Amino acid sequence: MNYYSLNNKNHKVTFQEAVIKGLAPDRGLYFPETISPLPDSFFQNIEMLSNEEIAFETIKQFVGDEIPETELKKIITETLCFDFPCIPVEDNIFSLELFHGPTMAFKDVGARFMSRCLGYFNRNTDKKVTVLVATSGDTGGAVASGFLGVKGVEVVILYPSGKVSDIQERQLTTLGQNIKALEVDGVFDDCQDMVKKAFLDESLKHKNLTSANSINIARWLPQMFYIFFAYKQLKQYNKPIVLSCPSGNFGNICAGIMAKRLGLPISHFVASTNANDTVPRFLEKGNYEPKPSVTTISNAMDVGNPSNFIRIQELYNNDLNEFEKDFSSYSFSDTETERTIKDIYSRTKYIAEPHGAVGYLGLKKEMQKQRNSIGVFLETAHPIKFLDIVEPLLDLQLPIPKQIENVLGKEKVSVKIKTYGELKDFLH
Ligand SMILES: *Cc1c(COP(=O)(O)O)cnc(C)c1O
Repeated sequence: MNYYSLNNKNHKVTFQEAVIKGLAPDRGLYFPETISPLPDSFFQNIEMLSNEEIAFETIKQFVGDEIPETELKKIITETLCFDFPCIPVEDNIFSLELFHGPTMAFKDVGARFMSRCLGYFNRNTDKKVTVLVATSGDTGGAVASGFLGVKGVEVVILYPSGKVSDIQERQLTTLGQNIKALEVDGVFDDCQDMVKKAFLDESLKHKNLTSANSINIARWLPQMFYIFFAYKQLKQYNKPIVLSCPSGNFGNICAGIMAKRLGLPISHFVASTNANDTVPRFLEKGNYEPKPSVTTISNAMDVGNPSNFIRIQELYNNDLNEFEKDFSSYSFSDTETERTIKDIYSRTKYIAEPHGAVGYLGLKKEMQKQRNSIGVFLETAHPIKFLDIVEPLLDLQLPIPKQIENVLGKEKVSVKIKTYGELKDFLH
């Protein structure tokens, strides 16, 4: 399978090159040259298939013959080492829980899949790839855990000192081996700026830098898997399905739209955002005007210019009318989010964290228009990762899951940096 750059359709690369490079040399995102729907029989029999079988059928056309079938199946099995339950929260509303993995965030899926693809491509070479990521919290932990011990891959994670939670910091600083954490004296945007600078720096060419966020197709495409798993669990209700994704860089929702292109019957998509409302404003006013991000309690979605939105536009051939038939987007304040966490708990005893609550809010809003449907929102992280918000709101103490307990006792190891020069010295 070939991928083209969204900046230049004549620039084409293989799956392998797209995964290793992350971004095209012209800074465009890669996009698959063809998308072929799956046969009807696949959807008719989906409840008979295991998650691994479903994942293999959905991803194989995007990998082509670049990873042999047995290897790809092994990668999928290692990626999907946990459950994806669809939990009924109230009448016709379900929470698709994506947080049962090793770092308790959905990003485990993409990070595990991508790391193993890179490991396969590196199997016979001594060449090293360096995965360089800036994190405001969740990405770093999932990448650290997903890439731990993968052959030929060194991981360097930049995070803002004092700006990530204690649990998140331990998830990225305690693993050792091929994972290095750089603690930046600054805010997330400073980390992000340094990473961007490094990708453009000719003198770092020999480090083969790549990214591990949803820009990378090997992190983005496997995010389709769990949208299929949701359908497998909801098909029995025999109603149209509305999917709401709490959205930051719009990777999940874009994966959902890809799943629909493969034939998955999702009737409507909702991109639910916090105060970072670039896409809801676009749908209302018709012009796309990114703004600098603002800080909210659902901080993994504090994104002013969602990187995958350009892929969504490509999926709709930039046809706004067609797009609006399938897609809505709504923005919610922190006050609404907090009120909703309390409200859901008092009515149903379900504990949502801020990102899931934003997803729930968008879903409820859309369901007023889609009355004969059932709705599912993504619960993208475990409430324990946002305990400083959830515990006081609900006046309770959350039990510590074993994945978190495992990191709490470990010693933090990080290198403090302040300037781009220091990052460069570290990488050299
Ligand atoms: C990354 C993240 C999101 C945003 O997901 P996108 O696919 O970038 O829209 C939402 N919730 C949590 C908890 C996250 O870590």
